[in-house]
Amino acid sequence: MNFSTSIIRWYGFHKRDLPWRETRDPYRIWLSEIILQQTRVDQGMAYYHKFVKNYPSVEDLANASQDEVLKDWQGLGYYSRARNLHYAANQVMQEFGGEFPNNFNEILKLKGVGEYTAAAISSFAFDEAQAVIDGNVMRVLSRFFGVTDAIDSKEGKAQLVKLSKEHLNQKDPATHNQAIMEFGALQCTPVSPDCTNCPLAKGCFALANEMVADLPWKEKKTVVKPMHIAYAVFINEDSILMKQRKGEGIWEGLFDFPSIVSETPIETEHAARQLLQMRDWKDTLLSEVSEEVTHILSHRKIKARFFRINVLHKPHNIQNGEKWLTKSELAEKGIPRLIENYLKEIDWYE
Ligand code: SF4
Repeated sequence: MNFSTSIIRWYGFHKRDLPWRETRDPYRIWLSEIILQQTRVDQGMAYYHKFVKNYPSVEDLANASQDEVLKDWQGLGYYSRARNLHYAANQVMQEFGGEFPNNFNEILKLKGVGEYTAAAISSFAFDEAQAVIDGNVMRVLSRFFGVTDAIDSKEGKAQLVKLSKEHLNQKDPATHNQAIMEFGALQCTPVSPDCTNCPLAKGCFALANEMVADLPWKEKKTVVKPMHIAYAVFINEDSILMKQRKGEGIWEGLFDFPSIVSETPIETEHAARQLLQMRDWKDTLLSEVSEEVTHILSHRKIKARFFRINVLHKPHNIQNGEKWLTKSELAEKGIPRLIENYLKEIDWYE
């Protein structure tokens, strides 16, 4: 039995029933693929259902505001995916006449869609013979066929592309792609893969050479940089001052607080003084300083502290992008998880 036949057979017995596997609608497949980038299936499921319900068609998604889309994305992280999703829905409406593109090259033109996603959509929805290569696929290929060059090196990548094309099932690329991804997710897992009960064990390079734990090999490690943030939480009776983030950055478009940011630790008293002087408002009073909280993102380790400042008379000379929001107005806005956790703690968010 060849490689593809083996994994497709395995897939027939072991596959999970997932809603996006029951459709050939490229829009829904695209939604699921974007949601599942960097997200576990169990976490992504609720978001998939929410997006399909709130935006049943690509036109509905294009007609929504970016704020609405970000709000629905809240908690999933990597917010550029949501911004790109919204942008690409508009691209479909304007550049493709409202019809989701139906081949790899056209799908690749959509913002936020890379080769992996274009291969997944074009094979799942249109049976185009495109091989997907995601983290799961790389792991399976490098272990089974013995790719010992780093998978993030030029040589390693080229070998993986070649192998994935050579072994793609041309007659049924959709099932082949689903099968190899599922095989990586459930059988040939990053840690403790189930080699004892593996249908590929006989021909597996990594198993034969005792290299299962060593492959796939990576050259570069992700560098996680420290980031220290002191947030000013200005509160006036029933409103709180929030600031919509502009420009590039992970949280672009989301609402948080005015802040001081540094790569080195910020001394609490110094931060309090600076935050109080941030605005030349009269009658402000620092009422509470939170414990330091740690928030981990893929490339950042954030240590944040929140300085609650009561403002007796609501000033209207606020900066561009800032808004005084009531609780119910705040509930409509997209906010990062770090801010959401704090707001819940002070009873400002449900
Ligand atoms: S034998 Fe182990 S390492 Fe090889 S493909 Fe199977 S699960 Fe992966």
